Amino acid sequence: ASKKTSGAESVKVVVRCRPLGHKEIDDGRKTCVDIDTTRGCIEVKHLTKPGNNKQFTFDSVFDQRSRQRDLYDSVFKPLVASVLEGYNGTIFAYGQTGTGKTYTMQGNPADPEQRGVIPNSFQQIFEHINQTKGIQYLVRASYLEIYQEEIRDLLSKDTKKRYELKETADSGVTVKDLSSFVVKSVKEIEHVMNVGNTNRATAYTDMNERSSRSHAIFITTIECCETMGTENHIRVGKLNMVDLAGSERQSKTNASGERFREATKINLSLSALGNVIHALVEENTNHIPYRDSKLTRLLQDSLGGNSRTVMVANIGPADYNYDETITTLRYANRAK
Ligand code: ADP
Ligand code: MG
Repeated sequence: ASKKTSGAESVKVVVRCRPLGHKEIDDGRKTCVDIDTTRGCIEVKHLTKPGNNKQFTFDSVFDQRSRQRDLYDSVFKPLVASVLEGYNGTIFAYGQTGTGKTYTMQGNPADPEQRGVIPNSFQQIFEHINQTKGIQYLVRASYLEIYQEEIRDLLSKDTKKRYELKETADSGVTVKDLSSFVVKSVKEIEHVMNVGNTNRATAYTDMNERSSRSHAIFITTIECCETMGTENHIRVGKLNMVDLAGSERQSKTNASGERFREATKINLSLSALGNVIHALVEENTNHIPYRDSKLTRLLQDSLGGNSRTVMVANIGPADYNYDETITTLRYANRAK
């Protein structure tokens, strides 16, 4: 598609490749991904069949040496700045489990070098608010999870309760009764994030299984009120930060019952998201299929229109991930 449509400008897809892990190095795994960051080229090499090497090109590619700051300053910071001006914005981390989605979104909040997008956005938001005179801000935070097309509130004591979406003319699609906390500082919003992360980790015995199969969405709403003469101007921007479920193929042959139901639903919302983003960047598309999943319905007012979207497609460099890496790059390529 042409890149001149407004849709294409508001949606950005970038690729990030993590370094080989210690275990992969110990196991003697080889790197099969070659990245040229200046040209935005990625080559995925098939180590035994060079005929199967595949090449991709993206606007922005971050290689194994990229730091959290590099991504933040070049792709996330402008998006968060637009949310502070009253626009909606959504950041997605997409990719197979183990490729760095949570590292990209959360990282290690205690280490400034390793802080991910979520804690870095808190810093940017409150720095901006503290430096801006004459405008009143109200910041609220919510944190939810979508698992098997069911919504849970990660900030509620009752983590078993299921929440429904509701649609009103005024506020669009929202989650009915979802908790939301007013926060006045980086410390307060970090506390909200930590509570949600702890609830997510303790509610389930198989945390890793579960977290790799669910979408976690941290929502920051920023309301600003500026008095001009006798009038108050109020603008509201919403920032959605989404750690998506792992994109790996769920084994359909062995899965039955619950597992099978789960697998089809995970794939459903990831493919629905891919379709929405693809439709947004295509010219001459009037129909955007938001209604196909809870995830896309919930984010409807933050995808397209005046909103900005960044999707980070995370990949691993190791040879045994050849197939999944190519699948992720194809998904990202279709979305861009
Ligand atoms: P995912 O959330 O996609 O399953 P994680 O974010 O948990 O993956 O990452 C898997 C492992 O790789 C973690 O130990 C994480 O710290 C490490 N890792 C991921 N991305 C990077 C990176 N860019 N640099 C260094 N370590 C990384
Ligand atoms: Mg994760």
